[in-house]
Amino acid sequence: MPTTATDTLVAGILQGRRLSEDEALHLLERADLPDLALAATAVRDRHNDPARVSYVIDRNVNYTDVCNVYCTFCAFYHKPGDTRGYVLTKAQLKQKAEETKALGGTGFLLQGGVNPDLPWDYYLDLVRYLNHDLGIWVHGFSPVEIQMMAKLSGQSLGKTIADLRDAGLGSIPGGGAEILVDRIRKKIAPLKGGREKWLEVMEAAHEAGVKTTGTMMFGITETMAERVDHLRVLREQQDRALARGNGGGYTAFAAWPFQSGHTVWEGKVPKPTDAEYLRTIAVARIYLDNFAHIQSSWVTMGRKTGQVALHYGCDDMGSLMLEENVVSAAGTCYSVNNDEMNRMIRAAGYEPWQRDNVYGPVGV
Ligand code: SF4
Repeated sequence: MPTTATDTLVAGILQGRRLSEDEALHLLERADLPDLALAATAVRDRHNDPARVSYVIDRNVNYTDVCNVYCTFCAFYHKPGDTRGYVLTKAQLKQKAEETKALGGTGFLLQGGVNPDLPWDYYLDLVRYLNHDLGIWVHGFSPVEIQMMAKLSGQSLGKTIADLRDAGLGSIPGGGAEILVDRIRKKIAPLKGGREKWLEVMEAAHEAGVKTTGTMMFGITETMAERVDHLRVLREQQDRALARGNGGGYTAFAAWPFQSGHTVWEGKVPKPTDAEYLRTIAVARIYLDNFAHIQSSWVTMGRKTGQVALHYGCDDMGSLMLEENVVSAAGTCYSVNNDEMNRMIRAAGYEPWQRDNVYGPVGV
């Protein structure tokens, strides 16, 4: 049988060879799904116990929905001055923390809109309250929020992140990456800033020894080459973080398709198919060879596809999604309880284990 370019690439991946961008693009556009599953699983198993799949019990808490960034794909925010906008009270935060802990949960994925009415001290007080008073791990604030906080505090990004960390911030989620290509960012979120703005927050966090996650929201008019370019800048940044060896860097990567419901994009961009999702996540697993963990996006793709993704390089099912406002505002939201999560993982052929927000064991 003749050897194809894909066969050669897969053989190299199985031997631990790093992919170039052209090779990743080739796989994304041309490889057969079984080849991708084989290669992605090999890379997954290099970083993880092949028998196990992790998940976290935490809660998405959006402390405010007031936002002045007006991303065209967002169905969640209210404009400043709109009386429907909210900021959660401490009593509401406390109730959410108690509910989370009662279910065996450990943390909050804490994100807001970019609310111009909140002062710098509000954020320090918020993380202090959640972490020190309520005992919640705060996986908090996307780069656009941290950029705003740096302006509010009049400090560098590094000092802003260090202050947040000292107040109780545990780790930083990679929300708002969308596609890290300025042509796309200008089109979908012109006020959010170019990719350098997102990357400089992550670099400052890694330099400060803080762990973060990397994300990609795809299927919003980007080309396949632009998808690979997004992965390239993440891999380069992770190489730098690992070389520093100070504990900072990406713990995991998650990708999900754009949800267009209730946004100006509704009906204008097709939702990526299950097969396209699996191709994308598998190539991400293979290309991001310096990332330990890849999350399955069962929340947007549904349980079945989420389970299948575990055979395309994913080793983690993410959160139970005790609360999810942003994706559900766009019309898509799945959630499960702990038993269902365990069943879902076992039915896919793996042993479930609960992790914390930085992929450590719970209660140790
Ligand atoms: S995605 Fe985030 S930054 Fe953009 S409008 Fe929505 S809440 Fe604001």
